[in-house]
Amino acid sequence: MEPTRFAFLAGAFATHAFVGYALVRGVTDADPRLGIVFGLLPDADFLFPAAWGWPFVHRGITHTPLFALALVAGCYAVARSRRVAVARSRRVAVAIALAIGSHLAIDSLSPMGIDWLFPLETSWSPGLAVHGPVATALLWATSIGLLAWRRDARPVEWLRRRLVR
Ligand SMILES: [Zn+2]
Repeated sequence: MEPTRFAFLAGAFATHAFVGYALVRGVTDADPRLGIVFGLLPDADFLFPAAWGWPFVHRGITHTPLFALALVAGCYAVARSRRVAVARSRRVAVAIALAIGSHLAIDSLSPMGIDWLFPLETSWSPGLAVHGPVATALLWATSIGLLAWRRDARPVEWLRRRLVR
């Protein structure tokens, strides 16, 4: 793989993971690691063998609202079947929805877009450079802001401990 392509993908993966983490940490009480895992999950489609073809391609089935809904509903159902409390199961479902939803929202704005209406093939996209330097800086700044905004966020606690002595 070319170094520039590698750097682009590494930046995109890091951004999806961090945005997912910040959303789950910032607005839910679920384990924020869910944000990293499910913020990255749609890009597991890079591992699909080329021979599989559509929809098992990059930006195929794992980048569709239908897949995200099925995943959220499936995880909720598994949690409930294991007798996990309703409130905790809901927190996990919301965390997964936020993380995977953020990935789809970001990718949908890119030139390649996503198939919003899967199983129909659609190709509309506003064509924004969502993994370019400006958008990446905005996404990271917004995520850091979200973490700082949360009252008990670790960066805020860390600052408070150092300032209030
Ligand atoms: Zn993606």
